[in-house]
Amino acid sequence: MILPESIQSLINSLERLPGIGPKSASRLAFFLLRAPDEVAQDLSMALANLKANTALCQECFNIMEAGRERCEICESQSRDSSLICVVEEALDVLALERTGGYQGKYHVLQGVLSPIEGIGPDDLKIKPLFERVGRGGVSEIILATNPSMEGDATALYLRQHLEPLGVRVTRLARGLPVGGDLEYADQNTLLRALSGRQEMG
Ligand SMILES: [Zn+2]
Repeated sequence: MILPESIQSLINSLERLPGIGPKSASRLAFFLLRAPDEVAQDLSMALANLKANTALCQECFNIMEAGRERCEICESQSRDSSLICVVEEALDVLALERTGGYQGKYHVLQGVLSPIEGIGPDDLKIKPLFERVGRGGVSEIILATNPSMEGDATALYLRQHLEPLGVRVTRLARGLPVGGDLEYADQNTLLRALSGRQEMG
C-alpha cells in the first residue's frame, strides 16, 4: 500500500458515497488532511451526531429530531390531516415543503418496490400507511412516488390496496421529468404536478 492506512481507509469510506469516484475521494481526503484541525473535527462530530440525534416519526416516517414521537408536520394543527401525500424519501418531503403549496400531511415509504433488488411491500412503510387510512379521517391519498418504473409500479400497488378502503387516490400530474427524482424538480413544476393531480385510471 502506497498510502498510510488512515488515509486509504478515509478514501475508501468516501468512495462509498453517491457521486464520489476514486479521484474525488482522494481529493477530499487530502483536503481534510491539510485543512485546519477543526474542519475534520466538525465533520466527524456531525457524522457521529447524524444517526444518534435523528429518528423516524412514528406516524409518517419522515426524519426528525430524536427524542420525540411525532414530527412537527404530524403534530401541526394547522395542516389538513385528511390529505396524505405519499413519497419515497424524506428528501421528497423537503422538495414539496419548499414549494410552500402543500398543506396536508405526508407518508414516507422509505423506498420503492423493486423486485429486482428484492424489495417487497414488507420492506417499506406500506402497512403503517394502510393502518393510518384504516383509522379514518383520511379523504385523499396523493401518490407522489417518482415518475420512474419502480415509482409507477409502487403507485399502482398502493392504489389497488387503498381504493377498497374507500379513500380517493390521486397521482401527481405528468410533467415531471420521466425517470427524474422529485427532489430535482423545480418548485413551479412540482406545484403544477401537485395542483394538476388526477385519479389514477
Ligand atoms: Zn410525521
